[in-house]
Amino acid sequence: MPNSDTQIASRICENLARARETIAAAAARSGRRAESVTLVGVTKYVEPSVARMLVESGLNTLGESRPQQLWQKAEALADLQVSWHLIGHLQRNKVKRTLPLVACIHSVDSLRLLQEISREAAAVHRTADVLLELNVSGDTSKTGLKPDEIEPLFPEISKQPSVRVLGLMTMAGLEGGADRARRDFAALRTLRDQLAPKCPASVVLNELSMGMSGDYEVAIEEGATIIRVGSALFEGIEV
Ligand SMILES: *Cc1c(COP(=O)(O)O)cnc(C)c1O
Repeated sequence: MPNSDTQIASRICENLARARETIAAAAARSGRRAESVTLVGVTKYVEPSVARMLVESGLNTLGESRPQQLWQKAEALADLQVSWHLIGHLQRNKVKRTLPLVACIHSVDSLRLLQEISREAAAVHRTADVLLELNVSGDTSKTGLKPDEIEPLFPEISKQPSVRVLGLMTMAGLEGGADRARRDFAALRTLRDQLAPKCPASVVLNELSMGMSGDYEVAIEEGATIIRVGSALFEGIEV
């Protein structure tokens, strides 16, 4: 196990280079350019000092699943140019503090949360970019809106002037491996294709945030534009 900071930094560099190659290959297989896939480096497993090494390796789009950890890391890395994504559950009482720190919230799973985000964004004269989190796997343990809940929300979403819905996010079902993941990701893409012609102006649905360390290749093949990768970037590091 590497232990000195130099060893950890070089391991992170290698992991990132390997992930970028894998992304490029998967994109090529689906007839897309590597640049059409945004890699979000998920830093929830590591200390801010290790997250810093990831940025210094050249990845400045980072994600955290817990708001408090995002606040803490954003503060620790405030001297760097980092685009932060919140990828996990957000309670309404944490919107105010989270919003100024993030480029995108992946995990909007209720109309009330979206309304709160719009209210807080309006208060600071900005527009918040969000994704709607879908539960396509049907796992009851997973958060997210059900596929048939999205379209009925469109009229209400279009009344929230300070939120822009850029796309959909999902996590694949826990069981069933790559086949299951592919089915869930394909379901998200199909849902997006069905909803796209019915969207109001503030809903675009260009982005599909799907794929993590174990299934991001499959996700890219199925049309992911954003992948959220944590453990693969920190492989071989004792944290
Ligand atoms: C932790 C997490 C990830 C990253 O998971 P890895 O398997 O470590 O790559 C992606 N998305 C969400 C929502 C997460 O909570």
